[in-house]
Amino acid sequence: MLFESGAWFKPRRVPVEAAVIGGSGVYDPGELEDPLELKVYTPYGPPSDNIVVGRMGERSVAFLPRHGRGHRIPPHRINYRANLWALRALGARWIISVSAVGSLREDLGPGSLVVPDQFIDMTKRRDYTFFDGPVVAHVSMAHPFCNRLSQHLVEAGRRTGIEVRRGGTYLCIEGPRFSTVAESRVWKNVLGADIIGMTLVPEVNLACELQTCYATLAMVTDYDVWAEKPVTAEEVARVMAENVSKARRIVAEAIRTLPDDPEDDCSCCRSLETATL
Ligand SMILES: [Zn+2]
Repeated sequence: MLFESGAWFKPRRVPVEAAVIGGSGVYDPGELEDPLELKVYTPYGPPSDNIVVGRMGERSVAFLPRHGRGHRIPPHRINYRANLWALRALGARWIISVSAVGSLREDLGPGSLVVPDQFIDMTKRRDYTFFDGPVVAHVSMAHPFCNRLSQHLVEAGRRTGIEVRRGGTYLCIEGPRFSTVAESRVWKNVLGADIIGMTLVPEVNLACELQTCYATLAMVTDYDVWAEKPVTAEEVARVMAENVSKARRIVAEAIRTLPDDPEDDCSCCRSLETATL
């Protein structure tokens, strides 16, 4: 039960254990067995799309395309609160987020996969919290990702023969425009970030407020503009297609081998214990 002191949120328990939020290029759930499409209503409005629930091995899984099918919703207009609330309300205790990113490091070329362990938030106008009062909560973001689920993703990559870099700082910009060269150099050289995208925040902090284990599999599409290495749309499309294929294999392996109960070892599930005033 979430928020036991707050009667406003009662999650509907359906047998979903894990959820996947698909990013750019990942608009369908892939190899889900017995798929069932659900329209979910939330107190925050509609999620990005209908949610498809099905099975992967022994696990029941929910899939939601972050931008909606057909990539209809830009990063700054995504209803993150509705998305996270809906997945949690369906029962998901594990959320694997897949996203396309740009690289701020020479040694992270197009096609690299990264599981970040930190973020820097440069977004400007999003709904960052479920706690708009009267209940006030300040959740810890010192270590924003689920350590256990992040490690699980890296190991799933290893088992499928795909190298996944563990750790790195994801810099989240507001979008939908890309950075200027000056900005990109600041992110890289001054802030020391490793990858850049537009959707991690507030997804990760909302997942934390819902006491859910959350990790990101970031797929590097190209170098950000600091590198001044122009790419063609054809190259980007080719790298994205390869990335999506690799990400699907890793996510499927990770879900099939998820531990039984995230509450055993994870501090994620207790993130509200010291957060409310
Ligand atoms: Zn966790």
